[in-house]
Amino acid sequence: MIPREYADELLAGAEGAYLIRESQRQPGTHTLALRFGHQTLNYRLFYDGKHFVGEKRFESVHDLVTDALITLYIETKAAEYIAKMTTNPIYEHLGYTSLLKDKMVHRLSRGRTEPRRVTFQKDDRVSFMTISSPLVRRSALKDTPEKQCSYEKIHNFKVHTFRGPHWCEYCANFMWGLIAQGVRCSDCGLNVHKQCSKLVPSDCQPDLRRIKKVFSCDLTTLVKAHNTTRPMVVDMCIQEIELRGMKSEGLYRVSGFSEHIEDVRLAFDRDGEKADISASAYADINIIAGALKLYLRDLPIPVITFDLYSKFIQAAKIPNAESRLEAIHESLLQLPPAHYETLRYLMAHLKRVTLFEKDNLMNSENLGIVFGPTLMQPPELNALTTLNDMRQQKLVVQLMIEHEDVLF
Ligand SMILES: [Zn+2]
Ligand SMILES: [Zn+2]
Repeated sequence: MIPREYADELLAGAEGAYLIRESQRQPGTHTLALRFGHQTLNYRLFYDGKHFVGEKRFESVHDLVTDALITLYIETKAAEYIAKMTTNPIYEHLGYTSLLKDKMVHRLSRGRTEPRRVTFQKDDRVSFMTISSPLVRRSALKDTPEKQCSYEKIHNFKVHTFRGPHWCEYCANFMWGLIAQGVRCSDCGLNVHKQCSKLVPSDCQPDLRRIKKVFSCDLTTLVKAHNTTRPMVVDMCIQEIELRGMKSEGLYRVSGFSEHIEDVRLAFDRDGEKADISASAYADINIIAGALKLYLRDLPIPVITFDLYSKFIQAAKIPNAESRLEAIHESLLQLPPAHYETLRYLMAHLKRVTLFEKDNLMNSENLGIVFGPTLMQPPELNALTTLNDMRQQKLVVQLMIEHEDVLF
């Protein structure tokens, strides 16, 4: 516990020297006094198992000071250069993109089916709504499998400590510092400065070696990694159900053995699109239906995203049927493309399920009850909200099934 002036005296003349003193005004708090550039710099020093004065956390104060000296040195000597670092990025021409050039033909074009304009008419008998576009909607299952996947995806940057010298793949400059020199995308492995990460376009192409699982993986990340339009779980389960389960009584309501559903999950996580979900592997179609529901429920971001959740709930509360449908349509167009495509495909399938109501006893209303909470979850888990919103969740799904031909 020494005064600031005495610390200054002790450190004077020894560049890089430092000491830690306890604050006289606030006992229990500590200050790091560091000599740099012929002056003493004072930082409030924190400890929570690791030492820090800013964002970076260090095992020892010595490491912290080493990193601070490197950073101070670079920022003093090269401030002007650092400011200009990002003005002429190599990103578009070299490095990352050239490595992945063949994988990313339509890097920045959006993959979403061009949304069709829907005109809502007053007469709600025969043509409740008409599609003004001349495009004839194709049945989702008949869609030619588009292997090309061109959704935009943001990088998943996390602070990273590099061993040995590394250069930024955006600006090509050195990444200085002792630890946490930059950030790395956990999905594709792109390494950049923190300041450069804000400038990198949303063109992450996840690497299959980094995406280990299928279930519980972000939907857009999964389809980008596997280069598909929709998650293969959704396509494969729906195709299997349409093949042998459409007349199964209580389809999607009756649950299969949870251990077998767990087996299906493991098979997808292990084998991806090669997972065997045929009748010889799982005779009971309710297992496949259960696996599909589990997949949708376990998404880190639900198909109807947290961001848009309340928009959909509000839409369902509109009393006028036409305005309600219009509001749902508006909200659908804001979904991320991969989520939109998945929902479109699922709703077309559920519509077909209702055509077999005589056999499977499932109509749009009870499918709404089943899929409402599966596709929609409130951003904050709160028992009361969940209870209050159940009616609207059901209604949103029910309406999407009944009007899927015009909504999507
Ligand atoms: Zn990435
Ligand atoms: Zn950079």
